[in-house]
Amino acid sequence: MIIQERLVKEFIEMVKIDSPSYKEGKFAAYLKKLLEDLGLEIVIDEHAGQVVGSDTGNIVAKLKGDLPALPPILFSAHMDTVSPGEGIKPQVKDGAIYSDGTTVLGGDDKAAIAAIIEVIRHLKEEKISHGDLEFVFTIGEEAGVWGSHYLDYSLIRAQMGFVLDCDGEPGTIVCQAPVHEKIYATIFGKAAHAGMNPEEGVSAIQVAARAINNMKLLRIDEETTANIGVISGGLATNIVCDKVKVHGEARSLKEEKLQQQITHMLNCLQNACREMGARLETKIERQYPAFHLAESEAVVQIAKNAAQALGLKAEVVASGGGSDANYFNHRSIKTVNLGIGMSKVHTKEEFIKIEDLVMTARYLVAIIGEVKG
Ligand code: ZN
Ligand code: CA
Repeated sequence: MIIQERLVKEFIEMVKIDSPSYKEGKFAAYLKKLLEDLGLEIVIDEHAGQVVGSDTGNIVAKLKGDLPALPPILFSAHMDTVSPGEGIKPQVKDGAIYSDGTTVLGGDDKAAIAAIIEVIRHLKEEKISHGDLEFVFTIGEEAGVWGSHYLDYSLIRAQMGFVLDCDGEPGTIVCQAPVHEKIYATIFGKAAHAGMNPEEGVSAIQVAARAINNMKLLRIDEETTANIGVISGGLATNIVCDKVKVHGEARSLKEEKLQQQITHMLNCLQNACREMGARLETKIERQYPAFHLAESEAVVQIAKNAAQALGLKAEVVASGGGSDANYFNHRSIKTVNLGIGMSKVHTKEEFIKIEDLVMTARYLVAIIGEVKG
């Protein structure tokens, strides 16, 4: 049985252990012990930890099944939480779990981890037959999807996976997510005294203004978004500004549309610099690749059927954000991202309904059942 009381207790225990991005070590030690006590084989992916700069690596855990002919499947959740996420004091109120209002709750993504642990306990207690199950608990997801980016994929056999890291009720199935790139631009103008000889200066602020004014931004089309999110520069009102930093991003469900938008933003910057005599330095950083699974894919069908078996409304959706599922798909593990009922994530009002926490665990059990056919 999925035991609500035990699951809630485990969840509360987990969110009380701090695990900000890059400092997941204490939580990873707790989780590793838990998994070992449950009899799973554990590998700590230390190399990823070193590359990412975290105090632990990803945890890769395997639960051998008694039905070795079944395809192995992957379940994954991230260990890190966003800030403010230290000293979390979870409170149970009206059938839901909240923080005390001074931090996030950390249900993103520990609700998933607690549900996975409850499912493993359930499988063992009820001696349920299943194929091999692989679990990856990642680091640095919130900081840049780093754990799955640098995961040692030779540790994984599964070709099908379920990431549990989406808001929306259980039954929400993300089968499409965008590619995301960041633009870091620095515009170099020329300093001059604003009162004595301004005509000798080139105002990087004016150049930036012209460039940004010419950009198509925010909602570009139904698949594509773009934003300039940070601008900084200038020293004093009496100096023609010689340096401005402009940081922005673009995302799209389609690779070519992303490239088009990034090119457009770079062109606006380059043209303004050329027209006004400024110099430009830019850096483009890919955050994660896109993925798109057809609804006919086995992994999507399994997720849908499992939802329907529980009487949940299966909703196959596209997401505007990335997750570890982007990298798993990039590495040929067909992976959907599932809604687990976490709400108002990345805010101090974050909460999760206990019934959704329980349903997430039951949903995973149903998925394991669907794989058996
Ligand atoms: Zn998350
Ligand atoms: Ca998140």
